[in-house]
Amino acid sequence: MINFNVPPTTGEEINFIKDAIALGKICGDGKYTHMCSEWIREKTGSAGVLLTTSCTHATELAAILCDIKAGDEIIMPSYTFVSTADAFVLRGAKAVFVDIRPDTMNIDENMIESAITEKTKAIVPVHYAGVSCEMDKIMELAKKYHLFVIEDAAQGMLSSYKGQQLGTIGDIGCYSFHETKNYSMGEGGAILLKDGEMLEEAEIIREKGTNRSKFFRGQIDKYTWVAAGSSYLPSELNAAYLWAQLLKADEIYDNRMKSWNRYYEELSGLAEAGYIELPHVPGECMHNGHMFYIKAKDLEERTRLISYLKENEVMSVFHYIPLHTAPAGKKYGEFRGEDRYTTVESERLARLPLYYGLSEQDQGQVIHTIKKFYKKK
Ligand SMILES: *Cc1c(COP(=O)(O)O)cnc(C)c1O
Repeated sequence: MINFNVPPTTGEEINFIKDAIALGKICGDGKYTHMCSEWIREKTGSAGVLLTTSCTHATELAAILCDIKAGDEIIMPSYTFVSTADAFVLRGAKAVFVDIRPDTMNIDENMIESAITEKTKAIVPVHYAGVSCEMDKIMELAKKYHLFVIEDAAQGMLSSYKGQQLGTIGDIGCYSFHETKNYSMGEGGAILLKDGEMLEEAEIIREKGTNRSKFFRGQIDKYTWVAAGSSYLPSELNAAYLWAQLLKADEIYDNRMKSWNRYYEELSGLAEAGYIELPHVPGECMHNGHMFYIKAKDLEERTRLISYLKENEVMSVFHYIPLHTAPAGKKYGEFRGEDRYTTVESERLARLPLYYGLSEQDQGQVIHTIKKFYKKK
């Protein structure tokens, strides 16, 4: 069976984990946490980066930093992972879902303005498949209506928009290092911050509401409880795993892009013949090969395609069930405007196996099986 995903490993992870153990520090904010966050900061040009226990937690931290409260409204796509909404509804806010663009599956920047009310506090663009949302327009709206922009860049590390790294364009950016993402630590994430004051506040919330980070830097002589906080810092063991991945970031990136480009080239015949649609990457976006999907004609054809691939030893999967159709989405959210594309486009989409180290032979089999499926028609 060709798996849909295989968690990335470089072989070096175990050595760094052993080193972390030998250093006698396996809780958070040790050598590996600092090396990883510094690496991300330099690579992305972000002002401040903190590793977190997940992207979900990075987004929760963002919601606290933006002082999201009961009654606030947060604009986001319905076609996203539950965490995008969870982080805000946990604080009593309402998720306001806006339609997506069919070409990128990202929030439709032209549908946002009519969803803004007095209660709107933030826009949360989700960069699906590591392809950027139309950030110029989103930032312009945020400025006009004084809203925060929190980028859900869970899939977007090392992607860019007009030369700017995803996660560094809005006020806050959130990354994921879950095992399904390009770079991993099992479970983990990062929060990227532009503003120095917010960074200081984030350090405190992440450390149970204490100023312990300042204490460790020698800026104060004892640490104390200064705010309401939580524990969002990952263990050094996880950070050591991530460090091995970051050292090989270029190789992982190139490898994923090679697979992505091969899918695109070899499936373009089917697209030109009108059988399937391929992902669209706007000219101002550089993506990171996070995901390759194809779109079948409709739900019925996609279901048959996924079954056919499975019968032929290929695991392909569909993706998000639009949040506004889910029980919690109905309770905590509202779709504003018309659902022209969210539901129908999500029903057509199937993701193909794509991971660091996918062999040429296996990928060839995936492509061959898809072609066979459409030849039968
Ligand atoms: C993976 C993902 C998340 C959640 O990341 P975790 O690190 O598992 O919390 C959130 N949003 C999107 C768009 C994702 O793809």
